[in-house]
Amino acid sequence: MRKTYVIGNWKMNGSKAANKALLDGLKAAVPAARAGVEIAVCPTFVYLDSVVAQVAGSPIGVGSQDVSEYDKGAYTGEVPVSQLKDIGATYAIIGHSERRSLFGETDEWVAKKTVAALAGGLVPVVCIGELEAEREGGLTEKVLATQLDAVLAAIPAPVPGSIVIAYEPVWAIGTGKSATPEMAQETHAFIRNYLKKGGEEFAAKTAILYGGSVKANNAAGLFAKADIDGGLVGGASLIVEEFAGIYNAAA
Ligand code: 13P
Repeated sequence: MRKTYVIGNWKMNGSKAANKALLDGLKAAVPAARAGVEIAVCPTFVYLDSVVAQVAGSPIGVGSQDVSEYDKGAYTGEVPVSQLKDIGATYAIIGHSERRSLFGETDEWVAKKTVAALAGGLVPVVCIGELEAEREGGLTEKVLATQLDAVLAAIPAPVPGSIVIAYEPVWAIGTGKSATPEMAQETHAFIRNYLKKGGEEFAAKTAILYGGSVKANNAAGLFAKADIDGGLVGGASLIVEEFAGIYNAAA
């Protein structure tokens, strides 16, 4: 009953030529939509408009890697939800660990952006995850609970299915050290249970994606787990065979 999502976070990569080659390959590899499985790519802001045009007529959706919490006005450098909707984006990644650790995004800021995305009709892909030291210190659940609490407090009556959560253990991002399917499932089950704070139906209908060194050769094992509803993919989303392989591994 929950959809599966395979979302590529291109991070700060790409060029006109590289994007075209990647999208041409992906469109050939993913010719038709599959019931219950969504696929999307998230380029940098400057390429969003052209990527939307290039995927038109294909099953591939488009999202941003961030979004402003503000509507419009004197916020130099920010991009609002309304403009992302205007150019045809569907998703916004919010609170990626790189934005939290490198650009100082707080839980409260992530919550405000999530509220703005929901209000403007974008699907927020809210990222949460613990650092390696936090996992080793037995703090994983405490960290995730704090990150989720900020969002749940800002959205007291969340609409079931309106938000996507991406669990990305920071120690698994770009390191090749993916969590084992069992380890990831255990944490996803904790997250789903915690989401009951927003209501039973909200918890049951929220897709929880795993992120962190997802590849074509480990995706099926991860996606087979009961509470893992797809992946937020970094490095492997820049390689046609890898990303298409991950999409094909989604049930
Ligand atoms: P990698 O797949 O490169 O580990 O990156 C994961 C990620 O941060 C996706 O948002």
